[in-house]
Amino acid sequence: MEKLQNGYLFPEIGRRQVEHMNKCPDAKLINLGIGDTTQPIPHVIATAMAEHCMALGTPKGYRGYGAEQGNKELREEIAQTIYGGLDIKGTEVFVSDGAQCDISRVQLLFGSNTTIALQDPTFPGYLDSSVIMGRSGSFDERRGEYAKIEYMRCTPDNMFFPDLSSVPRTDVIFICSPNNPTGHAASRDQLSRLVDFARSNGSIIVYDSAYAAFISDDSPRSIYEIPRAKEVAIEISSFSKFAGFTGVRLGWTVVPEELRYSNGSLVLKDFDRIICTCFNGASSIAQTGGLACLSSEGSKAIRGVVKFYMENAKIMAETFKSLGFEVFGGDNSPYVWVNFPGRRSWDVFNEILEKTNIITIPGVGFGPGGEGFIRVSSLGHREDVLEASSRLRKLLE
Ligand code: PLP
Repeated sequence: MEKLQNGYLFPEIGRRQVEHMNKCPDAKLINLGIGDTTQPIPHVIATAMAEHCMALGTPKGYRGYGAEQGNKELREEIAQTIYGGLDIKGTEVFVSDGAQCDISRVQLLFGSNTTIALQDPTFPGYLDSSVIMGRSGSFDERRGEYAKIEYMRCTPDNMFFPDLSSVPRTDVIFICSPNNPTGHAASRDQLSRLVDFARSNGSIIVYDSAYAAFISDDSPRSIYEIPRAKEVAIEISSFSKFAGFTGVRLGWTVVPEELRYSNGSLVLKDFDRIICTCFNGASSIAQTGGLACLSSEGSKAIRGVVKFYMENAKIMAETFKSLGFEVFGGDNSPYVWVNFPGRRSWDVFNEILEKTNIITIPGVGFGPGGEGFIRVSSLGHREDVLEASSRLRKLLE
């Protein structure tokens, strides 16, 4: 715990925001920083949860603990609807209270001597939970990196995917696709190389597909679209972003039967034990909501919300592009990743805040490889996105 550097990014953004508001108390602040959702949960889904709640208040409808692994119907529905055609069984799906929690819980599978690799930049949860588990050395301030962790650089030069020929073998490889913050959805070819790499090294891939529903081209939405990936990969995902469940809390993890330790024992068996010990099952209300999300009416409603956010992303990406900036993401993910070559991301963050009253996220907060970039979230209200676009045009034109 003492080695942990984080808890730094968001508090620091918050501190600068307060300082700015003290200086300019009348400023109308727009927050395009944090990746929280803003659009209401579609009515059909909210109604299913409300009805479940009301039934809990009746003798007939009352239910207590459910299965730790999740309700059977939901596990099967996730297997069929999300992984249709990929031959994932309901018994391989573990329903959770969100991806963040399972990123930490999968860490319990591996001992503290385990070596790990992660994309740089990426979502900080993989790194922080690894540091908490004691897998890192000390933090090197100058490099912005912990010792004993493999940072796999993801920049425009390598199509935002690690150059595996220069990555040393590790026990675990965390991959996020579409990646937060770069917005890059790994291609079939990139993922095939990754699966081959993990198979030949005896590594386990922990694949985070929390933004898969935002993919608009034919990039894989699951690692299991890659042949033999089941032998090497755990997939973690979430209802948070595509269904607006950031507050409701629901996600899942797939641990295929084919995934074995070197002695032949099932990883699934250990994960089941961890879930039964460290988690007691997701809320029955959230799980009812999850089932409603996967119904045909629910799926249709959710696709509308995803489309809305992607229109926001297009507006933001176009704004920066028309001003001559190099822009990534925004087509397969709700995040737009903007390059400010030669500048430090905190300086760009400060300038945008001071001159336009807009909060973004400095790219370096996602790892040293994010230096020179900022992340802009499209999960906001349309009027805020349009107003932000107009303020940015005035500043940067
Ligand atoms: N994984 C990624 C890549 C994320 O960006 C986030 C949240 O922003 C999470 C996981 C956490 O998701 P959840 O709300 O399901 O815990």
